[in-house]
Amino acid sequence: MDSQMRDEPVNAPDRCGWCGKVIPPGTGVHGIASDSSVTHDGDAQHDGHRFLTSCGYAHLVALREHYRRRPFLDEELWAGKIARAFERHDVLTVEDLEGVTGLSREQIQRCVAWLETQLYRLR
Ligand SMILES: [Zn+2]
Repeated sequence: MDSQMRDEPVNAPDRCGWCGKVIPPGTGVHGIASDSSVTHDGDAQHDGHRFLTSCGYAHLVALREHYRRRPFLDEELWAGKIARAFERHDVLTVEDLEGVTGLSREQIQRCVAWLETQLYRLR
């Protein structure tokens, strides 16, 4: 899980998401890609969308292709929403979690099952 809005220094220069090159101010090329590993602190409406920054159009195309090939897993997105909820609240009941995340009970249960399979794969 990844949150694009966290851990980014406020005054850090933009770097190309493909080659890592520092992008001179005003010259970056931007786009958006679907990515189930992304949640946003500020606006849950943008969860599942990664903001792309590149040094030029060719690298933006490469980034878009990279994320187009990455599977979009609903359960991964839901896990990010649940993780964000627990970062903001120490204790949540399942009912609370439904309200905070906007997920249904079935979605939460599917997410927990998916997380358990991910942990099993890591063993
Ligand atoms: Zn680049």
